[in-house]
Amino acid sequence: QAKAAGRNTMRFFDPRMQAAVSSRVALEADLRNGLLRGEFVVYHQPQFDTHLKLIGAEALVRWRHPARGLICPGEFIALAEETGLIVPLGGWMLERACAHLARWARRAETRELTLAANVSIRQFRQAGFVEEVLDVLARTGANPARLKLELTESLLISDVESTVATMAALKRAGVGFSLDDFGTGYSSLAYLKRLPLDQLKIDRSFVRDITTDANDAAIARTIIALGHSLGLAIIAEGVETEEQRQLLQENGCDAFQGFLLGPPAAA
Ligand code: C2E
Ligand code: MG
Ligand code: MG
Ligand code: MG
Repeated sequence: QAKAAGRNTMRFFDPRMQAAVSSRVALEADLRNGLLRGEFVVYHQPQFDTHLKLIGAEALVRWRHPARGLICPGEFIALAEETGLIVPLGGWMLERACAHLARWARRAETRELTLAANVSIRQFRQAGFVEEVLDVLARTGANPARLKLELTESLLISDVESTVATMAALKRAGVGFSLDDFGTGYSSLAYLKRLPLDQLKIDRSFVRDITTDANDAAIARTIIALGHSLGLAIIAEGVETEEQRQLLQENGCDAFQGFLLGPPAAA
């Protein structure tokens, strides 16, 4: 009896749950192999100032999957973070970003452009992260002043001392910092003021309805005022219409990124 019950245990699992678990395991193995096989590619999304002059870009990862086609980070970044694969993946993205910057430096038209790379908290907290960035900069010959690292507010939840120390070490080398998805996380203003940031990035969830929702407009205005009074530049992400861009600009937003001005495209 017991043996039969044991053998039939699987019966009691929700088959959908089982499918989810096995597809997660498969995705993890796939991710690992994808990294080894060089299936990841870099996309760039342009950023513009208030005169609509191109000032730089953000590097965004894509997965060119041999069977599934082009996959967006929403489908694999969370798992990459859970499994730690974000560390080698993020390291690779950083390397690519610096290589692009070094190439841009050779032409007058692209020399001044900045390139932003997203850095996951797990990657940022790795021992030796500062050395890794300095090493990649030295190896590629990229100008540190053109590299911007995008961090998220989750960084502020713990260990603010060491966060500030890591950022300060890279700042000394000339690297810039932007706080991504600002307003969606757990930022404590007491901590925010201690971070050596250069830029706040207004999250696209506030931009989306900015022309129709008075609360979103108020939040965006407040972020802009807060950032400026801390001496930071403000960029809005997810700008899809000219009306959104204009409202942001009227409220003092310094730079824009979004489908209106250019979608992410192969680097
Ligand atoms: P993010 O850093 O906030 O990047 C902006 C996301 O908004 C990108 O999604 C971009 O394609 C999308 N976007 C840009 N303009 C618009 C717009 O006008 N409307 C809308 N609705 N969306 C827009 P993507 O490329 O799918 O990346 C999603 C997230 O994945 C990124 O959000 C970032 O958190 C993460 N990510 C991407 N690449 C990397 C990476 O190399 N390392 C790490 N750690 N995370 C990455
Ligand atoms: Mg970003
Ligand atoms: Mg963002
Ligand atoms: Mg966002």
